[in-house]
Amino acid sequence: METSKHELRSKLPNVATTIFTRIGNLAREHNALDLSQGFPNFEMDPELIALTTEAMKKGFNQYAPMQGYFGLRTAIADKIQRLHGRTYDPDTEITVTVGATQAIFTAITAFVHPGDEVIVLKPAYDCYEPAIVLNGGIPIPVQLNNTDFKVDWALLKSKITAKTRMLIINTPHNPSGRVFSENDMLQLQEILKPTNIILISDEAYEHLVFDERVHWSAARFTDLASRTFVCASFGKTFHITGWKMGYCAAPKALMTAFLKIHQFAVFSIHHPVQRAMAVYLQNADRYLGLPAFYQQKRDFFLGQLDRSKFTFTPTEGTYFQLLDFSEWSNDSDEAIAERLIVAHKLACIPISSFNEGRLDHRLLRFCFAKTEETLEQAAAILNRL
Ligand code: PMP
Ligand code: GLN
Repeated sequence: METSKHELRSKLPNVATTIFTRIGNLAREHNALDLSQGFPNFEMDPELIALTTEAMKKGFNQYAPMQGYFGLRTAIADKIQRLHGRTYDPDTEITVTVGATQAIFTAITAFVHPGDEVIVLKPAYDCYEPAIVLNGGIPIPVQLNNTDFKVDWALLKSKITAKTRMLIINTPHNPSGRVFSENDMLQLQEILKPTNIILISDEAYEHLVFDERVHWSAARFTDLASRTFVCASFGKTFHITGWKMGYCAAPKALMTAFLKIHQFAVFSIHHPVQRAMAVYLQNADRYLGLPAFYQQKRDFFLGQLDRSKFTFTPTEGTYFQLLDFSEWSNDSDEAIAERLIVAHKLACIPISSFNEGRLDHRLLRFCFAKTEETLEQAAAILNRL
């Protein structure tokens, strides 16, 4: 088809197709085992399918309320209260969203004005910066330490200016798997106290923390909570990434501004799944069992890598494991990732794509939300390299 004669002025001229789509397409083309994009290759709980079917049969097939089905908002508020001791009013402080992605996009759009600065910790999940730029904001990168991915809080503080409007954190962190400690959150709280910076706390992997670690949600800290959008993903928690369902929680004044955008960008999300999720969430074992479930997968995968040349530290959270090839190759992580797909039929994500200036520390990210059979096959390939 011919393009129109209108002037085509993309609002994101420097943004290419996401690494997940590019690598996923290459993996399919070469019939590779896919440990790249973060999604499980095992079945979701049939109980949740049954509850959704039941909701559809009962006739919940028209628009849900704009903020989400009230029963689900109440269940979310109860869960946050039980886990983190913070009360959010389900009427005014919780919104059900199209995944964590839309919660983050909408929160950025509601508050970032042209010229505002938004601090982003790098490596960063790839949906933050395009949303900032689209709104005329300026992403200000703060690089994490490349060995343990700890935040240099003094460095972060030094990046705050009169124009800093927002800060985005992500714990547990994609791609490194690092989980913020209580001390991290307290330091962050102290730094933000004298400012009016809004915080987005991307907690998509809130239930995936290992080795007895605690997920220190921003909701736990009074001053942080008063300025934060806590954004979360049912996709990651309940093995349903394709349902694109999430939520955010924030104080009423912040949520009121959020809803002004949400009502016109989305209005409301799929109704029957909200009815089902409201019931499904009542059983806390369904999310409290996740650390043990995924830790077993992490340990199984790493236990299989006994003959591989990669070095690694067991991931603290998320369902991603980084493997380091710096000891045996100087090639770029993109080149190694491509060679792994084309020559060895195994797909992963090169970390440079999440870094400022494509900084390359020779790290590859593997998703271990897979069956043991798949993990075994992937490890066998990695051991042969
Ligand atoms: N944040 C992070 C850190 C992620 O890895 C993802 C991918 N799941 C998202 C947000 C988006 O989550 P969702 O699929 O619920 O939109
Ligand atoms: N969150 C997923 C990951 O990091 C990707 C989701 C997407 O493809 N946008 O793998």
